[in-house]
Formats: sequence, C-alpha cells, structure tokens
Amino acid sequence: MEASEHQMNYEPKERIQFNIECEDFNHKGELVQFILLKQKTDLRSRLLCRKCIEGKFNQQTNEICLISDVMDNPLNALKFTNYQDNVNQIFSDFLHSYDFSFDKDAIQFKINEIRLNFLYYLDKLEKKLIEKCEKFQETKSNFDRIGEKFAQYFETENLKNSLNEAQEKFGNITTKDKQKLRKDVNTYVDNLHSLNKQTNSEQYQRNSEQYQKNSEQYQRLFDSINESKKNLASKEQQLRLFKFKLDQGLDKILQELKNMEETFCTLNLRQSELSTSYMDELITKINPIFKEPNNFQDKIQRIYSSKYDGLNAQQVTQKINNLGQLNLQTLLFIFQTSSQQTFGVYFSQTSSQIFHQNKRQEFPIKSSITALTINYNQNQTDILMTFGQKDILIKSSFIGCSSNLGDGFIVNPEYQIGNLKSHLANQEDFDIVQMEIFQISK
Ligand SMILES: [Zn+2]
Repeated sequence: MEASEHQMNYEPKERIQFNIECEDFNHKGELVQFILLKQKTDLRSRLLCRKCIEGKFNQQTNEICLISDVMDNPLNALKFTNYQDNVNQIFSDFLHSYDFSFDKDAIQFKINEIRLNFLYYLDKLEKKLIEKCEKFQETKSNFDRIGEKFAQYFETENLKNSLNEAQEKFGNITTKDKQKLRKDVNTYVDNLHSLNKQTNSEQYQRNSEQYQKNSEQYQRLFDSINESKKNLASKEQQLRLFKFKLDQGLDKILQELKNMEETFCTLNLRQSELSTSYMDELITKINPIFKEPNNFQDKIQRIYSSKYDGLNAQQVTQKINNLGQLNLQTLLFIFQTSSQQTFGVYFSQTSSQIFHQNKRQEFPIKSSITALTINYNQNQTDILMTFGQKDILIKSSFIGCSSNLGDGFIVNPEYQIGNLKSHLANQEDFDIVQMEIFQISK
C-alpha cells in the first residue's frame, strides 16, 4: 500500500491527447498534436500533426504550440504568440514581471537550509576541536608529572605539625619549645630553597655530597620542564588559534546575518545587493528629492556590479568611461572588503563624501581636493582609483588596497577614531571582494 502510494507521486502527469486525424491527405493515420497560433494564415486547418511540423512548418514560425500545453494551462498560449501592440503583450509582460514563488514556504525552506548547513558545519567543527583538545589533554599527565617532581620541595606537613604543637602550648610555651619551633620553620624554608643554586652554595659548602646531589636534581628538573614545554607548546598554540578563530568567526557570522536582515529592510535602492537601509537614508539626506521613493528607480541606475560584470579593472573603467566626462557625473561607489566591511563614496561636483555603512558614518570632502582620480591605463599592480589624497586607494587587482582617512576627507572628531588607516576596512591592507557603481541623475 505504502509503496504504491509512493510510486504514484513519480508518475508523470497524463497529457491530454485528442483522437483527431490530420487533414493533410499525405498524413493519413497521424493524430493532430499542435495548434498554429499565427494570426494571419491561409491554411485550411490550424491543427497540425507531427509530420506537418517536420515538413512544411519546419522553422517557418515559432507560433506553434502543443495542444496539451494550452490544455494544461491556457496562459501557455502567450508563450507562442506575437502580440505586437496588443494588450495581451502588456498582460504577458505583467505576468512575468512579478515573482510570487518566494513565499512563506520558500523562505522557511531557505532559512532551514541555512540552519541545517550551519549546524552541520558547526558539528563538524566541534568534533575537530574536541579531537585536537583531547590530544592536548593527553599531554596533561606530562604536566602533572612535573608537578609531582616538585611536590617534596613544597611539603608543609611537618611545618603544620610544628605549628599545631606550638599552638597547643599557647600561654605557657617554654624556651625549649620556641627553639624547636624556630628550627622546624627554618627546616621548611631550607627545603623550599634547596633547589636554588645560590643558596645551595652557601648552605651546603661544608657538605659537598649534599650539594652535589641537589645540584644534579636541579639540572634534572630544569631539563624535564624544558622538554615538556616544547611538547605542550605546539599543541596548545593550535588550540589558542582555534579559540581566536571561533571568536572572530562568530563576529563575522553575526555581521553577515545582520547584513542579510538589513538588506531585507531596504526599500528603495533595490538594485544594490551590497547596501542596507542606511544607503536609502544617506542618499535621501544628501538629496531630499529622494524622499520620493520612485526617484530611486528613475534616477539611480546601476552601471557596474562585480557580481555580474566581474571584479575587473577594465570593466570598471569602461563602464565609467561610457558615461562621458567624469567631473559632470554623480556616482555612488560601494565596496565590500574581505573583512566584511561595507563602505563607499558618494561622488559629485558639490558634495562628495566617504561613508561607512556598517558604522553609519560620513566623511565630507575638504575644499579644493579632487574627489576621484581614475587611472585609465592601469597595470595589475597599479592604483585604479584614488579617492581624495590617499583616503581610499583601490588597486587594479583589488588586492592589498589601502586607506588613509582624513587626508582629503574630513574626519569628525566625535567619531573618536583610533587608527585612521584601518578604520574603513578594520585592517590596514584590505581586499575588495564585491563592488557596485551607480549613476545618479539630477
Ligand atoms: Zn499533418
């Protein structure tokens, strides 16, 4: 029962077939399968068989569709017809402009996919870490053995007994008792220092046999610690690195989740895959005409995206070149670094500024500074774009870029920035991993 039910799911949907013979005398016995949708035709019958298609209608028109296709879904007819200047064409465009498939189920499916993948890799990471950790823990016996070797020099049992004896005699302690206590405490301290070469030389100069014994013991313990250190260090270093990576990884993951969430909130600059709602606010702040949401669609045009055009210096210069004279343009550059930071530049004749999306900060340009210089004949090692003086330097290879914020753009002291070179990317040398350029028209 279960098996047959299961099988049913995989049975293909039955296609509707009409038992009608083709009207062409040469096609006797062939059933019609197609319908010709071309509007003007002198043909007697629009119903065609396989042979009609292979012969007469081969490559003549694409306005032929399977009868079973339109029986499945009447709107399939739109796929095989040319509706020039017809409202059906607008209807067809309308039908295909909106995507309803990313619905609640699809969202839950996608999020669950992320969750499962995340948990899978997290489990894998956990196992690996525990394995490493166990290897390190195995060396603990080594560590403990060293402790045991030293235990006798820190022995307090005799000291405790002497102190207790003296305590019991509180109030009527004799001179003899006091002498004994003093002697016992001295013995404890001597023992504590018996491994110290310096003390040894004074203490045991009359007893060279004891001195020799302690000196050898000193060397033995010294060597065993040194040996263990080497053994433990390499294993522990790895674990320390792992711990550091875990902390760093968590930061990155949370940052990415926050990015995703904020991206979903973005209402206006929809063409950008890097920006968050911050970008809407920034653009609206720079130019209030963008308070009208439609202006985002009408006046902001993406001219370059590394995702679709490739992260390629030539593509970048070409796309910018196509716009015409650079200093007449208003452009928006958005960069994302391998360190997960997103920042960019709003470039215009009057109000250029650097912004940091994650930190929500802006840095307006100083007066009489060139906001953007593009190197059109670049080699891989050259600088492709210079923003301000050395405020942002983008290399043609997009690797090893740098920043010296405050050179040509103004840094508000309220931001209390510690290191101006690493502020934008959270590191001094950074790689660009994604980039977008938009043209803003007035
Ligand atoms: Zn036929």
